[in-house]
Amino acid sequence: DQAMADRSAEVIRTLLQHGYEAYWVGGCVRDEYMGRRVSDMDITTSARPEITASLFPKVIPTGIQHGTVTVLMEGEAFEVTTFRIEGGYEDHRHPTEVAFVGDVEQDLRRRDFTMNAMAIGLDGTWVDPFGGRADIDRRRIRCVGEASLRFREDALRMVRCIRFASVFGFSIAPRTWKGILAERDTLSFIAMERIRSEFEKIMTGPSPLRGLSMFVRSGLYSRMKAPFPYTGHDDSMLSAIPLIDPEHAYIRWSLLLLACDIRSQAADELLRGWTFSNKQRQEIVSLMSIQEEWLKITGADKDGMDKLPWVRLVLTHGKASAGGWLRLQQALHHSGAAATAETANRQLAEWLEEMQIQSLKDLAVTGNELVQALGKRGGPWLGELLGQLLLLAAAGQINNDKESLIDEAKRVVMNHEGS
Ligand code: ATP
Ligand code: MG
Repeated sequence: DQAMADRSAEVIRTLLQHGYEAYWVGGCVRDEYMGRRVSDMDITTSARPEITASLFPKVIPTGIQHGTVTVLMEGEAFEVTTFRIEGGYEDHRHPTEVAFVGDVEQDLRRRDFTMNAMAIGLDGTWVDPFGGRADIDRRRIRCVGEASLRFREDALRMVRCIRFASVFGFSIAPRTWKGILAERDTLSFIAMERIRSEFEKIMTGPSPLRGLSMFVRSGLYSRMKAPFPYTGHDDSMLSAIPLIDPEHAYIRWSLLLLACDIRSQAADELLRGWTFSNKQRQEIVSLMSIQEEWLKITGADKDGMDKLPWVRLVLTHGKASAGGWLRLQQALHHSGAAATAETANRQLAEWLEEMQIQSLKDLAVTGNELVQALGKRGGPWLGELLGQLLLLAAAGQINNDKESLIDEAKRVVMNHEGS
């Protein structure tokens, strides 16, 4: 993004003009070299955080004690961090102290992988002391320094390592892999939330199965606080995962859980353990519930389908979830694990499309109006009746206008009282 590049160049220029060193650093340098889209541009500088803060009109003191100041520049935000080293790690995650240093190479040494330990100057000069570009060219992830030591300092790096390998399709250098095997027990010190955030990048990446399998083979998977009962097996349900647009991450997660033979209720618990947001959790569980209920409805008859049970499912779980479930079905088809025939899918999609109303508030009659029209006192029958009318109207079997609804209501009540 050109605006981001220009503004960040302006930040670097300002620092240089005041006699400090400043570079682009970390992920943005790596992504630029790899030709990937750059998401945020971090800057590293010899200027102390107070100085950086004083040089720009709009700053947020994000982590002054760690040397980080966020500089706001015409709608863009950049993290500007003072060259620093970290000393003494506590609990395999937190550096106990940071010290500012005068030299960019020292700063790069504290970073996790060679490809993340590169900086580039305003004039295009590279600072790449650990051979990051060469490793990118060889498509491999390698620790800066001794792998086991680096993983022992901060156990999250092991997860990041597999995430990068999975998302970039890179291999892991042998000593780095050995480092993971040696230090994997320290994973228990890392908050589930941070692990999940890496996992989400694996799951929305181009080859989630490769990431999952590396996770299992490394032994990290079974050391998580709430592991899915996933054993690294491969089946057609799992191979449907990459067929789902990463934008619909919740469908990918649902597939993983279904492939692990987890019921929707157990999934709900697991996803809490994984610290998913309520919204994400509900989306996933809802999809899994539809799958369970659908299998119950159709049973062994893979082609069998009636409109009303489907419409009832849609009303219970919402059109969005039902649409997601159809996407899931399509992916299962392409991977050869479908529960429903493709023609049936198309039919269900059509019915979904046609549904004009979704909830009682869309119904052209109210409970009060029914009470009046039927001359009966309100009671539990009313909710039931409204539900029935909604179902029929949503399925297009009766018109959603007051007269038709009341007619139908009278018919239903008469049948009831007659029986
Ligand atoms: P992403 O594309 O996910 O943003 P990134 O490499 O930019 O990847 P960030 O978490 O944004 O990851 O971190 C920015 C930089 O900070 C990294 O490139 C790396 O140099 C350094 N870094 C981040 N996390 C660690 C860590 N746990 N240990 C050492 N260095 C780290
Ligand atoms: Mg980043």
